[in-house]
Amino acid sequence: MAIATIDPTTGKTLRSFNAHSAEELEARLKLAEETFRAYRHTALADRRRWLARAAELLESEAEHFGRLMTQEMGKPFEAAKAESQKCASACRYYVEHGEAYLRDESIDVGGDRSFVRYQPLGAVLAIMPWNFPFWQVVRFAAPALMAGNVGLLKHAHNVPQCALALEDLFLRAGFPKGAFQTLLIETGDIARVIEDPRVKAVTLTGSEGAGRAVGGQAGRALKKVVLELGGSDPFIVMPSAKLELAVETAVKARLINNGQSCIAAKRFIVHEAIYPEFERRFVERMRRVVVGDPMEAKTEVGPLATEGIRQGLHAQVEKSVAQGTRLLVGGKLSSGQGFYYPPTVLADAAPGSPAACEELFGPVAVLSRARDVEHAITLANDSPYGLGASVWTHDEAEARRFIDGIETGMVFVNAMVASDPRLPFGGVKHSGHGRELALHGIREFLNAKTVRIT
Ligand code: NDP
Repeated sequence: MAIATIDPTTGKTLRSFNAHSAEELEARLKLAEETFRAYRHTALADRRRWLARAAELLESEAEHFGRLMTQEMGKPFEAAKAESQKCASACRYYVEHGEAYLRDESIDVGGDRSFVRYQPLGAVLAIMPWNFPFWQVVRFAAPALMAGNVGLLKHAHNVPQCALALEDLFLRAGFPKGAFQTLLIETGDIARVIEDPRVKAVTLTGSEGAGRAVGGQAGRALKKVVLELGGSDPFIVMPSAKLELAVETAVKARLINNGQSCIAAKRFIVHEAIYPEFERRFVERMRRVVVGDPMEAKTEVGPLATEGIRQGLHAQVEKSVAQGTRLLVGGKLSSGQGFYYPPTVLADAAPGSPAACEELFGPVAVLSRARDVEHAITLANDSPYGLGASVWTHDEAEARRFIDGIETGMVFVNAMVASDPRLPFGGVKHSGHGRELALHGIREFLNAKTVRIT
């Protein structure tokens, strides 16, 4: 696919970029390796200072970075600026905690002195998606750079300006040239980079298909890999929930980032006692959502990122409805320019239909009814994915049962699922493996070296 900025509000190509030649790619890999040799010995105080400077730039230039994001993938401008600011918070988190997370860890073995020393691995290839074009990258880069690794970013083909801005950001923040580089390469060249002995590990955020491909390549090369893949998060509402807040949050959790978030709530499982009222309020709110130009402040949902995603989503909706799923609102392709898709609500997904078994990566919600807690857990777990879950209840025993029984990497009670630098982020099942952020995130790309001194 062409490496290009295509305005999702018009479909017009704004800028195109040539992929690196073989020589350019070689030069970048060489620089990564050379930089790592020196960078791993830089003082933690220096890395903290550079990361703190990156945070300042992400904040002071949030407007500029936000504009780039909105232009390349269509998220509302306010959300794009907030994304830049959130990246600053991830950098500051590791400025504050990185040093402690990297300290030797003593282990009492009785007599001998033993400890674990955490050492960086080297160049880590980060294959990243367009949906949070800054956040996905920074949540990898901040801990990796703090730990003494160097980063090689292969960003999605449709956000090249964001990719280049990120390389420039880390350079301007003071990191040595080569500590964080962007690779403008096609998907077909990724396997070669993964196999390259100068690349020590891989992290991918993206679809299940990309996860299988990259996981397989990393496995064959015997390299560590972290996979953050898709999700079809359940949003469970029980009778004790505050219904108005639950409905309002449900709409927000489904539509965040124009519906294109791995942790967006996608399947709404509602107790039958409150289902009719929930459906009525939810559909009513989804019908009123303002869809439009993402640069306008009143816009709640902008266009989808690419025409391919729009067509793919619509095909999933049409197939689900043809198989017997109820369509309550939306579901029609708009005729104007741009990659817009209307907020859509489906209910009672036909067994085996895309609405029942696939991830819907856009503003499409699927409602279903649960008889009781156990039925709600069964429905929640009836998915190949296991990223996050949001549970709405004020019954403590019920909440405990959900926390134990739901097969996901994250459970949020009376709140929507959201990433936070202080909390580990990641999934199970087809949502991938490994964790980002917090202590768990920085430890993923470190050699935990066991030392015993007799
Ligand atoms: P893709 O998987 O197509 O793209 C993500 C990245 O992987 C891009 O850089 C892409 O490059 C690259 N890529 C695609 N195919 C391959 C391959 N075969 N081998 C190596 N790299 C590949 O994802 P989408 O663009 O469809 O993004 C949305 C998906 O990502 C959704 O399923 C979503 O849930 C998931 N996602 C998961 C998140 C999480 O944290 N768990 C967060 C965000 C999204 P190129 O663009 O050049 O094709």
